[in-house]
Amino acid sequence: MNEGTIEVQKIYQGGQPSGGLQDRFEEQIINLFSATEESSAETELQTRIDLITKSFLEAKQISRDVDLESVVEKFADSKLPLFPTDIDSYIEDLATNVVADSIHVSSPRFIGHMTSSLPYFFQPLGKLMTAMNQNVVKVETAKAFSPYERQALAMMHRLIYGFGDDFYTQHTQNSESTLGMMVTGGTLANITAMWCYRNALLGAKDDFGGVENEGLAAALNFYGYQGAVIIGSSLMHYSFEKAAGLLGIGDRNLIKIPTDQNHRLNLAALRETITECRQRNLLIIALVGIAGTTDSGAIDPLLEMSAIAQEYNINFHVDAAWGGAVLFSEQNQHKLAGIELADSVTIDGHKQLYLPMGLGMVILRNPHLAKYIEKTARYTVRKESPDLGKRSLEGSRPGMSLFLQAALNIIGHKGYEFLIDSGIKKAQYLANEINRKPEFELLFKPEINILLYRYIPEPFRQKTAQGKLTTSDNQAINDFNELLQNAQRQAGNTFVSRTTLENTAYGAGVPIVALRVVLANPLTTEADIDAVLNDQIKTAAKLPVITFNEEVNDDNL
Ligand SMILES: *Cc1c(COP(=O)(O)O)cnc(C)c1O
Repeated sequence: MNEGTIEVQKIYQGGQPSGGLQDRFEEQIINLFSATEESSAETELQTRIDLITKSFLEAKQISRDVDLESVVEKFADSKLPLFPTDIDSYIEDLATNVVADSIHVSSPRFIGHMTSSLPYFFQPLGKLMTAMNQNVVKVETAKAFSPYERQALAMMHRLIYGFGDDFYTQHTQNSESTLGMMVTGGTLANITAMWCYRNALLGAKDDFGGVENEGLAAALNFYGYQGAVIIGSSLMHYSFEKAAGLLGIGDRNLIKIPTDQNHRLNLAALRETITECRQRNLLIIALVGIAGTTDSGAIDPLLEMSAIAQEYNINFHVDAAWGGAVLFSEQNQHKLAGIELADSVTIDGHKQLYLPMGLGMVILRNPHLAKYIEKTARYTVRKESPDLGKRSLEGSRPGMSLFLQAALNIIGHKGYEFLIDSGIKKAQYLANEINRKPEFELLFKPEINILLYRYIPEPFRQKTAQGKLTTSDNQAINDFNELLQNAQRQAGNTFVSRTTLENTAYGAGVPIVALRVVLANPLTTEADIDAVLNDQIKTAAKLPVITFNEEVNDDNL
């Protein structure tokens, strides 16, 4: 316990705060808010935080070799602190118990997830944003941040749709128009798009008030539908399950079309499904195409899907949360051909735009679509106002457009092109290395910068090369790869993630455990990639050798 705490506790001894001390206590609390004066305490705090940040960002390890259970134990106490804790001891506790056991996602050898290092300028800008504390829900608490956000969204709209200058002159700052909505991530972007479509399809008509007003059962009944569905591939992100649940459609009615071995939606099956839905009188809320699946980065046949959507008059949404930034690349943007025909597109800022966590967006082809989700409140978000909160799922929101604007300006289109192209090149490098090494098997030739492969234990290498693995061989290899990924993560020197594939060259219905690499960190070099593979080879050598049907025991580790 520190001096400050002891002093405050004295004030309350016997439940009776004493006069002079009570005043000092209150002053101490008020002073927490008046940081404009340059105080030495504030400078000291900043210096301390800078040191913690620096050592965090420079750490070579990805994590400490500590069990999650022992980390959890540190946070078992749920008593709310009664007396103020002195800042220094709070920061000390934070550094030793939280920061020390966080994950160094910016490490060049952390190549298993969609989260990587950030440009340095976000740290000072984040400080500015926190200090300004704008709330973009309404102009009265944000002012410049409202048009600033609209401008950033219009830039992203141009990137996708590239309409003429007249279009942008007319809509960018017109409060009747919505070129997109900024949200906290891809999940909310996808949900927002589905919400718009549901409401547009089941809107007010004659004496019916619309789905938003009267509910889904009444709407389906009024329009004569037996139910409503969302259609996409089996690799759709699970945010669509949330959308189906929230919108009252039921996540069972999220129809998942099988994919081919390249992880792309099967078009013949799509046509059959649409026909069946029509026969069964089910309303199709939207068709979803994926531009960069979370698992493998595969891209659906967007051009063909958009043609089918047009033919059947179905809303077409593209989930480009991961892959959208490939549009920056002249050399690679053709992979996303057809995205410009989508009615809406999800893009995550905190993925390949390299923005801090908490920024996603949905971009809308039709600037008036968002009217279907418009809500106003007399006391704050008024009907005629340019308030962004009028057409948004969230209420109070920070001025995240600062981050998007900063990056679009400071990195620029050409800067992003370079980042995207180098990630794709690194994935090709890794694919070549895997193909060269007998220890590994490539499971998915990277379409962009995500790659799937696995380790093949020695006894299975010959059979793998000859294409003679049996289902039980694959089971044994699966078990081994699970052990390998766990051991690698626990040791914390390098990191890749893990997934299970349902449809590979080994056939549909033979689950294959895959190691998953995401090459997005600009700081990752070919030497880092080599280090990750070598770490796996070294780690694998220490794991129990598996033979046929032998149960692998986690205790052996
Ligand atoms: C990451 C991702 C999402 C979800 O985005 P969050 O930002 O995690 O909410 C949705 N779709 C795809 C394809 C993604 O990669």
